Amino acid sequence: MLRDFTSPFDATVVRLVSNAGAEIIGKTNCDEFGMGSLNIHSIHGPVVNPFQVESQRAAGGSSGGSAAAVAAGLCTAALGTDTGGSIRLPASYCGVVGFKPSYGLVSRYGVVSYADSLDTVGVLAQDVSQVVQVFEQINKYDYNDPTSIDERTRNRAQIFAKERYNLWNHEDLKGLRIGVPQEYFPSELSSSSNPILSSTRHVLSLLQSLGATICSVSLPSTKYALSAYYVIASAEASSCLSRYDGVQYGFGREVRKRILLGTYALSADAFDNYFLQAQRVRQLVRDDFDRVFSMPNVLYADSSFSLNENGEAAASTGIDVLIHPSAIRTAPPLEDARNDSSERDTLQDYVQDVLTVPASLAGLPALSIPMRTTTDLADSASSASNKPEEENWPIGISVVGQWGSDDLVMKATSGLY
Ligand code: GLN
Repeated sequence: MLRDFTSPFDATVVRLVSNAGAEIIGKTNCDEFGMGSLNIHSIHGPVVNPFQVESQRAAGGSSGGSAAAVAAGLCTAALGTDTGGSIRLPASYCGVVGFKPSYGLVSRYGVVSYADSLDTVGVLAQDVSQVVQVFEQINKYDYNDPTSIDERTRNRAQIFAKERYNLWNHEDLKGLRIGVPQEYFPSELSSSSNPILSSTRHVLSLLQSLGATICSVSLPSTKYALSAYYVIASAEASSCLSRYDGVQYGFGREVRKRILLGTYALSADAFDNYFLQAQRVRQLVRDDFDRVFSMPNVLYADSSFSLNENGEAAASTGIDVLIHPSAIRTAPPLEDARNDSSERDTLQDYVQDVLTVPASLAGLPALSIPMRTTTDLADSASSASNKPEEENWPIGISVVGQWGSDDLVMKATSGLY
C-alpha cells in the first residue's frame, strides 16, 4: 500500500542531520514495523549480512538494512530504531557500532510507532567517534514529541554524569568502575563452539590492564525481562497499530501475531496476569539497574539525590557502566530464517534479544561495539582455513549506563578501539 507513498514531511531526526550538513542517500530495509530480530519480515526480502555475502547469513534486525549499509561502506552512518535491540543486534552481527540512546533524548516525531514507551532512535556507524558526531546533532528537545525530555532533566543528568567522568583518569581508565552482570551469561554462551565467552574475557582483561576496576554485579530480574518485554511491546503495538486500517494496509504474519498477542494481553481476562505482571517486572528491572549504578536515575530519584550547594553531585559507590556480550550468538544463517511460515520456530528469534531488552525496559543508553576490529575480522576471514567458521564472524560487546549518561557510555569505550 505504501510503495508509492512519499511522506509530506521529514522526521525531526532527518531534519536535524540534514540541517547539520549530512546527505541522506536512501532508506534501508527493516522488519515490518520494526518487529523482528533477523530482518526477514520485509516485503523486500531479507538483508544479507555483507561481512561475507557467500555465507548468506542474517544481518540481524530489525534495523538490519542500516547496519548492513554501514558495514558495506555505503554510508558513513545510518539511523535506526531500537525498541528491544534492533540497533544493537544488527550492529553486533554486522561488525559495526550501534548506539541506542536513553529513552526520550532523541525525538520520535515522524517515526512510525511500534511500542511507544520503548521506541528510541539511534545511530549506527563504523566507529564511536562517528556515532558521537551524529548523536550530538539529534540529541535535542523536540516540542513535537510529547515524550521528549525537557532541558532541565537533561542538564541534571549531565551534571551527575560529568561528576563520575571527572573521577577517572582518561588516559588510562583508572577509577572507571565496570560491572559485569552475572545473569548475562546464559548457558548458550558456554558451548565450546561459541567464541563469545573468550572474546568477552579478552575485552575485560584489556580494560583491566588499562586501569578500570571490574566487578561482578547481580541483576536478578533479568530472567523475566524477555517475557515482560514481549508482552509490553505486543500490547503497545496492538494499540499503536490500530491507527492503520488492517483491511486496506494488510499486515505480515509476524505483525498479525503481535497484534493478536497484544490484544489478548490487554483483554479483561488476561490483563492482570499478563500486562500488569509485565509492568511489575519492568519496575523490578529498573530497580535492579538503579541499585548497581553510582549515578542516580534522575527520572525517578527523590530529593536525597539533590546536588550540594555548589551544584555538584555527591560521590557515591556503585559502578559507572555495565559490560556484557550484545548477543548470545553470531549472525545466524539465512536459509532457515527465509522460511516465513508458521512451522518456523520463531521462539528462537525472540531469544536473540535476551541480552538487549533489559536496557530497553529501563530506557537506558546502550552501545554495542565490535569485540574485534573489522580489520582483525577481515584478516581472520581471509586466513579462515584453520579456524572454525564461527570464530570469524563479528560479535559485539555492549556498554550500558544509567539514564542520561550517554556521553559517559561512549567515553568508557575509548580503550577498546
Ligand atoms: N526483536 C525485537 C522485537 O521484535 C526488537 C525489535 C526492535 O527493537 N524494533 O520486538
